[in-house]
Amino acid sequence: MAMADMRSPIESGCPDGFQYMHPTMRRNFGLWKYHTDPKPGVLCHVAESGEKIFTVKAGTQRILDIFSLRELTAIGDEFADGYIRFTIRSNIEYNVTDEAKIDPLIKALEDKGYVVGGTKNSVTSLSHTQGWLHCDIPGTDASGVVKSMMDELIDEFTSWNMPNRVHITTSCCQINCGGQGDIAINVQHTKPPKIDHSQVSNVCERPSVVARCPVAAIRPAMVDGMPSLEVDEKKCICCGACFPPCPPMMINDAEHSKLAVWVGGNHSNARGKPTFQKLVASAIPNNPPRWPEAAAIVKLILKCYKEDARDWERVGEWVERIGWPRFFELTGLPFTKYHIDNWRGARASLNASTHIRF
Ligand code: SF4
Ligand code: SF4
Repeated sequence: MAMADMRSPIESGCPDGFQYMHPTMRRNFGLWKYHTDPKPGVLCHVAESGEKIFTVKAGTQRILDIFSLRELTAIGDEFADGYIRFTIRSNIEYNVTDEAKIDPLIKALEDKGYVVGGTKNSVTSLSHTQGWLHCDIPGTDASGVVKSMMDELIDEFTSWNMPNRVHITTSCCQINCGGQGDIAINVQHTKPPKIDHSQVSNVCERPSVVARCPVAAIRPAMVDGMPSLEVDEKKCICCGACFPPCPPMMINDAEHSKLAVWVGGNHSNARGKPTFQKLVASAIPNNPPRWPEAAAIVKLILKCYKEDARDWERVGEWVERIGWPRFFELTGLPFTKYHIDNWRGARASLNASTHIRF
């Protein structure tokens, strides 16, 4: 291609969202007065100007194939105003200004097998990380856990029967994304990595692997005359952080990579400062394709929360009020030595607030 024909580069990054917004939303941006919840899965926002817009929310499988995407967008064109957005929890939201379109839109979604709900005091779709799809360190496939868990929680998604909204997260490794959900299902490695010494010098930059370990458990070593690494297993906390820069340090294991359930995390600063989640169940079998043991624990926690929490208490607030001993009493989950955090590196000053401090 001749230089003269080359186009100038397009800045990459997030495109301007306003161009995709429903015109009613654009007109009233920043000028909303209040919102109501006419029924599960439907929101109604009212602007200072008196204009109204309805949102209909449905759960999706998140990893969407092109056929489902066409189906979902065709429903939007036919039954809504042609405007959609996806939420961080893989829900699709349709914007409609004509109230009469809501029921036909819901029927069209349900006829195609999509479930409408996830608003107000429901269990909204679980959020999940990428798993096998694109990441290099998963110990499980978060999307599989999500699918099997949401199948079990469909009634909690379609109705308002929880004390407050419940956000559940999953993550496919022990160290990176995932999140501070009301309930989180995270991978838990329970054995140090097994090192394939024949590969280390070909694949790994040893200084960066040594630097990566949070507890300084990795040292350079010569093994069978080849440069390799060794792990002080007494120090290793089985976090898996060495595996991404050095795949020969294999930590995933069909038997010893488990799941753990954590409770009471919160990102926002809305009513109290953000909170870290706490471990409540460890070494749960990572048991595809339906993960029945993990699902049973999550359902048990939700049942106790539903029966015992006050109106509008989030899971973390409920536990804070009743105390952890009572939480373990109510749920019947065993309290073991693994629940005791004796890691001195955490210190009381670990930043648990999003406020900037100087
Ligand atoms: S949770 Fe871990 S494995 Fe999963 S996408 Fe995030 S970094 Fe990758
Ligand atoms: S698993 Fe974590 S603690 Fe153990 S050696 Fe690897 S980086 Fe260090």
